[in-house]
Amino acid sequence: MKMLITGGAGFIGSHLAETLLEQNVEVHIVDNLSSGSISNVPENVTFIEEDVRSASLQHLMAAERYDTVFHLAAQCDVQHSISNPAHDASVNILGTLNVLEGCVRNKMTKMIFSSTSGVYGNPEYLPVDEQHRVQPLSFYGLSKLAAESYITLYHALYGVPYTILRYANVYGPRQNTKGEGGVVAQFMNRLFTGSPLTIYGDGEQTRDFIYVKDVAAANIAAVHNGNQGVFNISTGHGRSVNTLAALLGAMHSSPLLLDYAPAKSGDIRDSCLLHAHAAKELQWTPRFSIDDGLRQLYDYYAASSPGCP
Ligand code: NAD
Repeated sequence: MKMLITGGAGFIGSHLAETLLEQNVEVHIVDNLSSGSISNVPENVTFIEEDVRSASLQHLMAAERYDTVFHLAAQCDVQHSISNPAHDASVNILGTLNVLEGCVRNKMTKMIFSSTSGVYGNPEYLPVDEQHRVQPLSFYGLSKLAAESYITLYHALYGVPYTILRYANVYGPRQNTKGEGGVVAQFMNRLFTGSPLTIYGDGEQTRDFIYVKDVAAANIAAVHNGNQGVFNISTGHGRSVNTLAALLGAMHSSPLLLDYAPAKSGDIRDSCLLHAHAAKELQWTPRFSIDDGLRQLYDYYAASSPGCP
């Protein structure tokens, strides 16, 4: 099996690459390194430094005849999408279109698309299922939703097989602090530099934090299952930001410094996604509890910050 990961030099894509290699899949990565890093790319991967919007991507896909393309390359910074919606749309919509054109050249290539809970906007009920109405609050959520629509229409017109995965807030090693779910990475960076953890508002806002290895496993589950489906990839549990800080505090030997700042305007209060559809159709459920995932991440930071408390 030969598979392509766009955005494979990034946080989630690099974990997906590692997991595929463990299963003896030949892995190719296309990434322009705009937010990813070559140091994230595992050995034994064919790395192509390229923009996902480039014409050469289509030539590559035609020549390599991948079994599956995992499309993760994206502009993932919500604030950037507000200040520069054209750039966000260019990468997230036109980039997806280009990958779809590559799939049309090889009709057997299935696209597995990384989407986001951001397509739902403010929840009308919790946990949010896939039937919840979609009303994004940012251009990032909107561009992801538009990309989803292109994918479903490409299937209707050209038969391109697909699975769409809507992630909750992903956390784990190699995450940068800018993207979605960045609060865990921000807390870790601050913890290991001895700085206070900034909590916006009262800290009782909740998020559904899912460990990156579980997200990689969901992508792999989608290779053979869930054709033409849309799936929430989540834990199904909302955890408050205060709880997150307390869990990290319990692992850390030095006292935790907390800095409460005014709530960010436009932030949703609570977020939690139901993953029953993925459990049934993808035969996937998360394996990492929040304690296990945070422990793995804490140990990763501790190993890369020798001498820190
Ligand atoms: P990331 O920024 O670490 O990875 C994105 C990768 O895409 C980077 O390596 C970047 O260099 C690459 N890239 C960006 N623009 C590109 C372009 N024009 N051409 C080629 N490569 C390009 O982000 P991540 O957190 O790993 O996110 C991966 C995917 O998961 C994204 O599609 C994101 O929207 C989605 N997602 C992430 C989360 C989360 O909590 N991290 C939640 C929901 C959805």
